[in-house]
Amino acid sequence: MSELKAIDKQYVANTYARFPVEIVSGKGSVVRDETGKEYIDLGSGIGVTAFGIADDAWLAAVTAQLGKVQHMSNLYYTEPCARLAELLCSRTGMKKVFFANSGAEANEGAIKAARKYAAEKKGADHFTVVTLKNSFHGRTLTTLAATGQEHYHELFQPLTPGFVYAEANDLAGTVALARQHKAAGILIECVQGEGGVIPLEKEYIQGLAAFCAAEDVLLMVDEVQTGNGRTGALYSYMNFGVQPDIVTTAKGLGGGLPLGAVLLGEKCEYVLGFGDHGSTFGGNPVCCAGALSVLGRIDEALLADVRAKSAAVFAALEGAEGVESVSGLGLMIGIQTKKPAAQVVKECIAQGVLCLTAKDKVRLLPALNIPMETLMKAVDVIKAACV
Ligand code: PLP
Repeated sequence: MSELKAIDKQYVANTYARFPVEIVSGKGSVVRDETGKEYIDLGSGIGVTAFGIADDAWLAAVTAQLGKVQHMSNLYYTEPCARLAELLCSRTGMKKVFFANSGAEANEGAIKAARKYAAEKKGADHFTVVTLKNSFHGRTLTTLAATGQEHYHELFQPLTPGFVYAEANDLAGTVALARQHKAAGILIECVQGEGGVIPLEKEYIQGLAAFCAAEDVLLMVDEVQTGNGRTGALYSYMNFGVQPDIVTTAKGLGGGLPLGAVLLGEKCEYVLGFGDHGSTFGGNPVCCAGALSVLGRIDEALLADVRAKSAAVFAALEGAEGVESVSGLGLMIGIQTKKPAAQVVKECIAQGVLCLTAKDKVRLLPALNIPMETLMKAVDVIKAACV
């Protein structure tokens, strides 16, 4: 083991099972380790580096802002924060944005907004948020409680109360649970990411939207992993013809710097008032400058390109030897392999391709602008590793 790996093992908390690879540099979708070996990166930092590593436009935007003001408290106006909020609203039809630093924090903000909205409109007993079994919403105590997977809960009791879990795609069951618990909101991922890259059914999402509108329950969509072009639409809910009341996002939005956002729709745009919520770093000008460069480039041409690359990956993998099935949307792809996914990922690393796992699947979240040729070269490596 190299000296650096030994230091990391000794001093960094044991929360991550690292692969024996130190990444030292990269450009676009190719990264290099300490020995100079190159890898095609199909993980993009778990869906973060939307335009790849050290992408020129993002780098220019971030470094220009760094030389002006690297941070200013939210007591004062800064241009990137205001411009990004305006852009997010104009691209989504949402009305206001609260900036956080991560996906979990964005979800915390959304849950606070839903509770306050429902308490004010319907009474303090309307605090429950319905989430889905097999969902993932973060690792703070509240977002762990929102996460509908028991194994994440076990060691950290008691979690924040006020969450119940519905079966995905069971509209009648979800509605019954929401009514029974006087729900403030229903929080979903349109494609369950950590749960195994599983899209929800369109009729289910549309049914939830209709129920939420009819009974004034907030429809909240967690776009932390699915957002910012990942699924071939700017936000994944746009694939399903619904308009949520609250959208959360993070990961790809910042393009590599920590940034989360809670987008509030018309119903709840004023629900968070002075002093109700806050963040020292939320809306940091450098992070927002990077995000402006990311969001500004996710246009219809890029999204069409994401969909075309997705179709090429599905076509190459579906029915391939050693592949049971392929799931997902856009460039958020899960591969059920006959071999254990961890073994496939290990073999891919040896052959110079970095992939992720989600549950028992191999998961791909490449940069949105990965060249088709690079992507398909990596898919060939995955196919060979599946056999
Ligand atoms: N929500 C979803 C859907 C996620 O996939 C994740 C992270 O994987 C989170 C929330 C938590 O985001 P973060 O790790 O930035 O707190």
